[in-house]
Amino acid sequence: MLHTNLSINEKGHLTMAGVDVVAMAEKYGTPLMLVDEQRVRENCRTYVQAMKEHFGGDSMPLFASKALCFKGLYQIVNEEGMGTDIVSPGELYTARAAGFPLEKAYFHGNNKTDADIQYAIDAGIGYFIADNREELTEINRYAGEKGLVQKVILRVTPGIDPHTHAAISTGKVDSKFGTAIETGQALELIKEILTLPHIDLVGIHCHVGSLCFDSKPFLDAADIMIAFMAEIKKETGKELHVLNLGGGYGVRYIASNPTIDIADNIRQVAAHVKEKCAQFGLALPQVLMEPGRSIVADAGLTLYTAGSVKTITGYKSYISIDGGMTDNPRYALYQSDYTVLNATRAADEPDMVATIAGRCCESGDLIQEDVKIKRPVRGDIIAVLVTGAYNYAMASNYNRIPRPAIVMLGCEEKTAPGADRDYVAVKRESYEDLIRNDC
Ligand SMILES: *Cc1c(COP(=O)(O)O)cnc(C)c1O
Repeated sequence: MLHTNLSINEKGHLTMAGVDVVAMAEKYGTPLMLVDEQRVRENCRTYVQAMKEHFGGDSMPLFASKALCFKGLYQIVNEEGMGTDIVSPGELYTARAAGFPLEKAYFHGNNKTDADIQYAIDAGIGYFIADNREELTEINRYAGEKGLVQKVILRVTPGIDPHTHAAISTGKVDSKFGTAIETGQALELIKEILTLPHIDLVGIHCHVGSLCFDSKPFLDAADIMIAFMAEIKKETGKELHVLNLGGGYGVRYIASNPTIDIADNIRQVAAHVKEKCAQFGLALPQVLMEPGRSIVADAGLTLYTAGSVKTITGYKSYISIDGGMTDNPRYALYQSDYTVLNATRAADEPDMVATIAGRCCESGDLIQEDVKIKRPVRGDIIAVLVTGAYNYAMASNYNRIPRPAIVMLGCEEKTAPGADRDYVAVKRESYEDLIRNDC
């Protein structure tokens, strides 16, 4: 199947991590998100080990928690030796509640408010990834008030031409994120930062985009970033020792997507970084990467119950499900590809082509169009694969639809023999939850 943690059992049901997903739908109801804990851990280990091996020293991956954020996940990521990238005080609050060591937390975002900055400093955030001058002014002021020196990494834009890499959209000069190297503004800002007494500038950061299936964008970014580090050293005398290359490796959503060997890609990036540093006479920095999608996407799937199957004569067929854009807005937002199948009859050959439609009052509430699928009857379980990233994290209560539960399928080695491997990591929202803040 699409990923090695998926299979079909003797009943013809889809399984993930060896667990019958139809049985999970019966036990917990739908819509339901399942997360394969073992797969999350393996994805973490791939990064942790490859970065240690190829970059050496204290280089490490930070989990970009915007991809999927709940307490249990921060605990797993921490156990696996990763840091974390957070983009809001809400994510920081969750990490803190999970007992995540905040000295390994990096606070991102292109518009941190004064309140955000103060909250993070009070909480003992390890690093800010500063986006702009206004933020830096407040970080310096508040750190001064608290009598401390705050570690900061500056986000810069390497100015990689997005036309060379279609997937790249955040690293170009014209971006709401960071400060441009090309225009000279980044160097200017760094000179200013070096005069701020309560900021310790340790490195620079870039994030070139998302869904990269090879390392070309990372290699190009590394070239520009390392050359810039050399320029900073020459112009200011300051040798920065942290290079954060951001996130962005892709995952396989559909059969025609390539598979990607993350460990081998990290090896290539490391070889390149070492070569460039040697060329510029710089010591090898601590390298950080920020994978989000490639840690959790293929560990997740979403289960729905099929309702009506409607064929419009001469047009097309719609299969309606009991969820949709409220738990997975990615197709509505950017026509993302997904693999959809009838989990109840996973062994049967597809016999129809259908559009999978959600239950919201929006014609655009679709999960996927033109899916080849075994015709469901009302009550069959429909599975959408590879939904671990940017699904639950983007969920809403539109139409006052409660968010689904997240059920983890625990690691075999950690489960007592004969015990159930599934456990609830995030409860399904109740109707009371929906009116909780209504006065
Ligand atoms: C979104 C984002 C990431 C994670 O990207 P993925 O494509 O999920 O790996 C990492 N760093 C920054 C700054 C981001 O905005």
